[in-house]
Amino acid sequence: MTKRQWLRVSSTAASDVGLVREGNEDDYFVGDTVVAVADGMGGHVAGEVAARTALEPLAALDGKVFASSDEAEEALAEAVRVANRLVVEKAEADPELQGMGTTLTAGMVRDGRLHVAHVGDSRAYLLRVDEPMTQLTTDHTLVERLVREGRLSRHEAALHPQRNFITRAVGNEPDVVVDSLPPLTLQPGDQVLLCSDGLTGPVSDADISAVLNAGQDGPTTVRRLIAEANNAGGPDNITIVLLRISGAPGPEDAPATADQLRRIRTREDAKAEDWASKMGQLGAPQGAVQREDTADRASGGRGRRVFAGLLGALLLIGVVGGGTLLLLSRAYFVGEHDGKLAVFQGVPQEVGSVPLYRVIDGEITDLDIDAFPDWRQERIQQGITASTILEARRRIDELASTIVRDPVEPGNGRDARDEPAGNTRPGTSEDGTED
Ligand code: MN
Repeated sequence: MTKRQWLRVSSTAASDVGLVREGNEDDYFVGDTVVAVADGMGGHVAGEVAARTALEPLAALDGKVFASSDEAEEALAEAVRVANRLVVEKAEADPELQGMGTTLTAGMVRDGRLHVAHVGDSRAYLLRVDEPMTQLTTDHTLVERLVREGRLSRHEAALHPQRNFITRAVGNEPDVVVDSLPPLTLQPGDQVLLCSDGLTGPVSDADISAVLNAGQDGPTTVRRLIAEANNAGGPDNITIVLLRISGAPGPEDAPATADQLRRIRTREDAKAEDWASKMGQLGAPQGAVQREDTADRASGGRGRRVFAGLLGALLLIGVVGGGTLLLLSRAYFVGEHDGKLAVFQGVPQEVGSVPLYRVIDGEITDLDIDAFPDWRQERIQQGITASTILEARRRIDELASTIVRDPVEPGNGRDARDEPAGNTRPGTSEDGTED
């Protein structure tokens, strides 16, 4: 039998708004046995609500005792599924909250082991003495998926403008697939870091690892991590939960149960709210004027987007940063399909070679793109966006009517005027239910 020892787990947590965002849509929970980080999406209020709501079932799990490791693992995963349902229900009940979602990365320490359940692109890392830091979780992002498929290099992924597109989120669909990691047996000296992408976006793993290894106490370490992210532009909300495991002497007369690992916890973050506000001041000394100057704001490249179930079925996208969340399944555009005008679902973009759109069956018209002047063909090929399918159809009718007004010169193939405008598409009459 392996030698058992008592462990002490101390935790420090903080969340910082960063230097670019107006509000903080991140949230976290630190309890006695459960910790979690949530990175909300959907615009200011909605994102905050999503993150806070998702943490409720995790908080309810805190301190619970489980008979087995399997039971603990299942309970943690179930809490994330419950979180998903809660966020979905809240979003359905309030139009203001529609389309909100959140990442959720949760850890539970039980019997000297760490259980992790995870959805999204927040991360859990393990830093073990004398070992390189390892990422425990897998990012549910499009670029991660493309890397795994060998279509994008790790380096390309790290710099990809669409690296924030996520393929799984809590609160976007009735059911969510939760990653459950195999339980990890903790050792003295281990550091477990849960964090949002506001840290891992601007700060490299090597730099994070260096700060964790600097030998400073928990609060100082967390503060330094936040400062690193803000020094790199602070493009997003930054949230960090740090667990540090140390050996602790057991009681002289350890009871029979002492052959099991025990977990003793010291809280270093006594008041989460105070932490967050302190960190805010610490992290954003330059104030709002300075923020306007940051390059990331200008480039707009760090907004979060959500794509769920994309590669198979093309589901949804959230574009946050501008404060809106746009469901890909509710986004439309008019474009070209096999030389014809057609209505597409999604957005006219590709990530890697993956299209973020699909043509809608029954929405492919007989209108030849060649019937339009070059400048308009170009415009169509870029995609003319519409917020509803009806609007997309109207765009097509408008385009069709321009052919009559601006006929192309004869001899350019077909004569578009043979096709009356407004009657160019099957299925015009049976709509009205979308959006
Ligand atoms: Mn984020």
